[in-house]
Amino acid sequence: MKIGKINSIMSTDVITLGPEESLISAVKIMSDHNSSCVVVVENNTPIGILTERDIIYLMDTRLDFNAVSLQPVMQSPVIALSEEAEILEAANLMVINELRRLVVVNDARHVIGIVTQTEIIKNLSIDSFVSFKKVEQIMNQRVVSVMQKDPLSKVISIMSEKHISCVPVLEDKKPVGIVTEREITRAIAGNIASKSVQEIMKYPAPVTGKNIGLYDATRVMDEQGINSLVVVNGTGNAVGILTKSDVIKNLRADYIEILKNMLRDKSRALIESELKYRTLVEQSLEGILILQEGLIQFVNPTLLKILNYTEGEIIGKDIMRFLCPNERGLLSENLTILDTGQKVDTPLEIRMLHKNQECLFMEVLLTQIHYEDRLAVLITLRDITERKKTEAELKRLVITDDLTGIYNQRYFYTHLNKEVERAKRHERSLSLLLIDIDRFKDFNDKYGHWEGDYVLKRLGDIFLKNVRDIDMPFRYGGEEFTVILPETSFEEAIVVAERIRKAVAQAVFYPFTLEGQPDVVSKTVSIGVAEFHMDDTMKSFLKRADNAMYQAKKRGRNMVVHLLS
Ligand code: GH3
Ligand code: MG
Ligand code: MG
Repeated sequence: MKIGKINSIMSTDVITLGPEESLISAVKIMSDHNSSCVVVVENNTPIGILTERDIIYLMDTRLDFNAVSLQPVMQSPVIALSEEAEILEAANLMVINELRRLVVVNDARHVIGIVTQTEIIKNLSIDSFVSFKKVEQIMNQRVVSVMQKDPLSKVISIMSEKHISCVPVLEDKKPVGIVTEREITRAIAGNIASKSVQEIMKYPAPVTGKNIGLYDATRVMDEQGINSLVVVNGTGNAVGILTKSDVIKNLRADYIEILKNMLRDKSRALIESELKYRTLVEQSLEGILILQEGLIQFVNPTLLKILNYTEGEIIGKDIMRFLCPNERGLLSENLTILDTGQKVDTPLEIRMLHKNQECLFMEVLLTQIHYEDRLAVLITLRDITERKKTEAELKRLVITDDLTGIYNQRYFYTHLNKEVERAKRHERSLSLLLIDIDRFKDFNDKYGHWEGDYVLKRLGDIFLKNVRDIDMPFRYGGEEFTVILPETSFEEAIVVAERIRKAVAQAVFYPFTLEGQPDVVSKTVSIGVAEFHMDDTMKSFLKRADNAMYQAKKRGRNMVVHLLS
C-alpha cells in the first residue's frame, strides 16, 4: 500500500464563499465552475460546506433558493484535514462519514484545497484493483430509473428519498441518458428545474459492460469526469449502476478479507512482526477488536483512541461492558449466530460508551476467524456518530418550517396519511383543525411582511403550548395552520380549538407601522373542525375541515365551526 501525504494529491481549485451569500448564487457559481461543492468560510476558516447532494435535498423541501443564505443550509461543522495528514487517514474519514470530499487546511486552519474520492481511489486502492474484480461484482443491481418524459421533480424526490446520486433514464430498458447531481444543480442554476428529464439529462448515457474490470471502469469515470456509469448486459439493457462510492465502499470488504487472511493461523507475535500488519492494523481504516468467548483479546490503537481507553483497561474485559446497556442483546444475538457457523453479512449499528460515558454510534461488522489457533470473532468498528448527527439534522430540516419551527406542510401530508390509516385500522376517532388568520392581508399591508412573519412565529408557539402532547400542529400554508388530533372525537377537538382561539385572541403584538409608529394589536383566527369518517379519503377529510373554516369566516371570524358532513 502506497502511503503519502494529502497535500500531494489534493486539488487547490476550491470555491469559497461567505455564509451570507445566497443559496441561489452558490448554486450558480458551482454550476459555472463545474464544481461539486462550495466551502463556506469566515476569515478563510471553513465553517460549512454545501454539496450537490445537499442541493438535491433542499430542492426537495421546496425551499426558496432566492430567499435563503448559506448559513442555515450548509453542512456544519466541516470535516477538515491537515495538509500533513496521511492519505490513509483521509480515506478513513471518508469511509466513516460517507463523504465524497474533504476540505484541506493549513496550520492556521485556512482552506488550501480539497481532496475527493477520485484521488483517494487513485492513490490508495491499487492493491484492491489488482485483485481484478469485475464491475458486476460490486455494481448496484437495483436500478431506480426514470423516463424522458418524467418531470425533473420526480428525479429530485427519488434522489432525496433513496439517498442516491444518479438516476439513469431508460426507454425500453435501454439507457438513453443519465441525471446526476450535476445536471440538477445546473437546472436549478439556470432556473429550469420545472422541466422534463429529457431536457436536462446528460446523454448519451455513460455505460460500461458488466464484465469489464473495475480498474478500467473507474478509468472511464476519470476520463469523462463523472462519478457513475450505467452497467449494461450483452443486449444493451441496463442491469446495474456503478458509482465511485460503491468502489470506495468495496475497499472495506477487501480490507477485512486481507486482514482475515493474515490473522488466520498466525500467532500474534508473528503478525506483529510483519510490516503489512502495521499498516493494516495500526494505521487501520477502522477500529479493530478480537473476541474470544466474549472477552477482548486484542484491540487496535484506532479503537482505543475512539473510546479513549488504554489497552490495559480493555484487554481481558467483557465486551458488553463497553456497550450501551440496551444494545447488548443485539450483539449477543449476532455472536450466537456466528457461533452456529452462520455469517453475519450486514453491518450492525451499535451504540458504545466512550470513557466519559458519552454514547457513540458505531457501525460494526462481525467475522469469524481463527486467532492463536482458536475460534474467535473479528470485530471492525467505525465511529458514525457525526454522520448520525448530520442525518438527524437533515431530517429535521426537511420536516420543519423555517419560520415558525413547527412541522411543515410536507410532513403534514405524510403524517395525516399515517393517522388516517391508523384510524381506519383500529376504528379509532381522529380529528383535524384548520386554522386561518383573520384579515392577515390587512395586517401585512399596514405593518409590513416582517411584522407579519413575527406574528406567524408567535402563533406557532401558541399552538404548541395549547395542544396536548399527542396533538401535532403544522404550518399548512402561508398563514394557515393545521392540528392533527389522534384518538379525538369532534366534541373534544372543539374544546382544543376553542382553547387555541382564545389564546390567540388574548395575545398582544407590538408592531410598527410602515411609517414607523408603534402600535398595540391583537389578532384572531377562524378554525374549522372535522372528525374523520370511516368512508373518508384524506382529501374529503381535509375538504370538510376547509369548508368548516370557510363557514367560520362567513359567520364573522374569530370562531370555531364544526361540520358533520
Ligand atoms: P381572511 O380573514 O379572509 O382569511 O383574510 P386574509 O387577509 O387573511 O386572507 P387570506 O386568508 O387569503 O390571507 C392571505 C394573506 O396572508 C396574504 C398574505 O398577505 C398573508 N400571508 C401569507 N403567507 C404569509 C407569510 O409567509 N408571511 C406573511 N407575513 N404573510 C403571509
Ligand atoms: Mg388564508
Ligand atoms: Mg387569512
